[in-house]
Amino acid sequence: MLTSTTDVAVVGAGIVGLATAYELTRAGASVTVYEAGAPGGGQSAGDARIFRHAHADARLAGFVARSRAIWREWSDTFGTELVSPDGAVALGPAVESRMQVLRTLADVTVRPLDAAELRARLPLLAPYDGPAMLDETGGAIRTRAAVTRLSAALGDALVRDHVLTLRRTASGTVEVRTGTRRGTHAYVVVCAGLGTAPLAHGIGLSLPVQVSAHVRVTFAVREAPPRRLATLQDSSGAFGEEGVYAAPVPDNSRYGVGLAASVPVNDDGRSIDPAALDALATRAADYVRVALPGLDPTPVGHVHCWVTTLPWGDDGVAVWEDDGIAFVAGHNLYKQAPALGVELAALAMTGTLADELRPAARLGRD
Ligand SMILES: Cc1cc2nc3c(=O)[nH]c(=O)nc-3n(C[C@H](O)[C@H](O)[C@H](O)COP(=O)(O)OP(=O)(O)OC[C@H]3O[C@@H](n4cnc5c(N)ncnc54)[C@H](O)[C@@H]3O)c2cc1C
Repeated sequence: MLTSTTDVAVVGAGIVGLATAYELTRAGASVTVYEAGAPGGGQSAGDARIFRHAHADARLAGFVARSRAIWREWSDTFGTELVSPDGAVALGPAVESRMQVLRTLADVTVRPLDAAELRARLPLLAPYDGPAMLDETGGAIRTRAAVTRLSAALGDALVRDHVLTLRRTASGTVEVRTGTRRGTHAYVVVCAGLGTAPLAHGIGLSLPVQVSAHVRVTFAVREAPPRRLATLQDSSGAFGEEGVYAAPVPDNSRYGVGLAASVPVNDDGRSIDPAALDALATRAADYVRVALPGLDPTPVGHVHCWVTTLPWGDDGVAVWEDDGIAFVAGHNLYKQAPALGVELAALAMTGTLADELRPAARLGRD
């Protein structure tokens, strides 16, 4: 059996685990990242995510603003764009109250959009004259570039193996058992997405993670890709749906569109109904026909994935800690992964966890 002995083990090489491991190495720790599949292949899969500051919970908006600064720093370090400069557009009645919160944050630039500027920022959109705002400091996250650069920076620290058990040892270290290895580490950070709650359960910790499934559908831009293309969050209901999000791929030739809805797991707790995923995909295409005439409504791609949410909201996030092992859970974590990475690295190295990330704080509540 292979053994690995490093300061910290990170379980999972999605964006949160990669960010955590990267920040740990920057802080001087030796790290092993255990990943069962391909880095960035779980909930972090796909070509784009939205970076937006607007959230119902003002504390989360502040946390995300810290994350934006780290995305900038990483872009400079890696010499590549990790968040597009084209902004994040939001439509709907909450726009005014969200702008009031965001205007209090340093380095966040938001403003209302009139119909003409909305058309310039989002030329794919049908005519709309309701409340609209632009987060100039938001944009499309370049997911593939982020996963590739972080993975490369971690090099041999990334180990392809499935973690089966975690256990505190008598000598005060934490044992990690995988398919072919036995690792010993001073601290373990579990960022395993769908695999987080089962690993917590193995040490007697029950996380209130609710599992569902989701589909995002990709559509081709009909004409030459626009030079600038913002992301979209549409809560207006003007086009028949009240919770839609969309983001462009890096060359703006395609736009991924999803509904904020998800598909529940079946009674067996493990399977999902493919017909329910089809129904969600059909609703996304119907929305595109009405709201986004600049797209061809025939899908050119799908991202299917599990979703892990906390009971207090779709943007809820928290960290549970138990004697040398930390577990992070939540949804919509891509944008805040850099700030989470910094906090989780600090926790592993100093034992200090920011109060706002404790479960009792219910960060990201609706
Ligand atoms: C379609 C879609 C659209 C989204 N849109 C946005 C958005 O616009 N903005 C945003 O911020 N967020 C968005 N999200 C959410 C965001 O993508 C996820 O919250 C984020 O990617 C989660 O990252 P993670 O690292 O926590 O988990 P994951 O990416 O799931 O990574 C966990 C990793 O752990 C590994 N693993 C699991 N169990 C084990 C084990 N026992 N041993 C070893 N490895 C294990 C898995 O293989 C996986 O690679 C979206 C999600 C989806 C699916």
